[in-house]
Amino acid sequence: MVQLYEKIFYDNEVIGKNNARLSVASSAVLYGLSVYTVFPVSINKEGQKVSFRLTEHFQRLTNSAKIIGIDDFEKNWNLEKFIDATKKLIDANDINEDVFVRATVHVDAQIAGTRSRGLSTVVSMFVYKAESILPRKGARLKTSVWRRIPDYAIPSRAKVNGAYVNSVLAKQDAIDSGYDDCIFLDFNGHVCELSAANIFMVRHGQLITPDATHDLLEGINRQTIIQLAGDQGIEVVERSIDLTELYIADEVFACGTSAYLTPIIEIDARKIHGPGKITKQLGRLHAEVIKGDSYEYSGFITPL
Ligand code: PMP
Repeated sequence: MVQLYEKIFYDNEVIGKNNARLSVASSAVLYGLSVYTVFPVSINKEGQKVSFRLTEHFQRLTNSAKIIGIDDFEKNWNLEKFIDATKKLIDANDINEDVFVRATVHVDAQIAGTRSRGLSTVVSMFVYKAESILPRKGARLKTSVWRRIPDYAIPSRAKVNGAYVNSVLAKQDAIDSGYDDCIFLDFNGHVCELSAANIFMVRHGQLITPDATHDLLEGINRQTIIQLAGDQGIEVVERSIDLTELYIADEVFACGTSAYLTPIIEIDARKIHGPGKITKQLGRLHAEVIKGDSYEYSGFITPL
């Protein structure tokens, strides 16, 4: 278990982590009716605490609430308030290492039935030690026996808690089989993503990732990698990927807040050679950018 910091932000104030009370009768608990995001807070070379792409994280949280129909959030929150809450949370905890912040909008209305609109919400934010969910040197993946929930059943681009049962099933299946994580396929057998990270492959010098209509979360790091690669003169293509293309790819890597940029070294007992040149190049750059150590990409950074 990762270390959870003592102070959390809950219901507009910073309190002890054991004092947050979300009812067992809330829609958040009954139906998994919460939306969330996780973003990194790092200590940069100058010793400043900085967060990465906070604006985009807030925007995705707002979009997730909008897609699900949780309309109370947008009425009560804006980016300024979100940044202010993050600052208060970080100030209240004695942080001298890189951490992740998980911000969640919970529907806390009680016994409200299976609906979303017009229900009260509460926002929680907590901090925990930043640890990768994948082995940093290289991860081994297994194609999941569970398919990715399609966008037409539970929207993939909304980061909604209840949908993560799908990820739990797939990740546990991979672990049970001796792998680090899964590859989700969609209903047509095309590659979507991992349990909580996006996927890229390199073939014939092109960097290829499934396009955003393939039942995947529109990852903030996915978008960042696409931009960084483009700026490095690497050709980026968003298109359908067949599983067998991954088997014979020159390089494969995963990316996400909690996955960083991790080379994939094996898929379904087939070795993937690497980490290759492009994976290494983008991995170095991505690490620098998320930590706020790149002057060129300082626009992604909010000092806290
Ligand atoms: N896909 C899924 C299903 C995820 O849970 C995550 C983690 N948020 C990602 C992709 C990567 O998204 P991000 O880069 O925004 O962390």
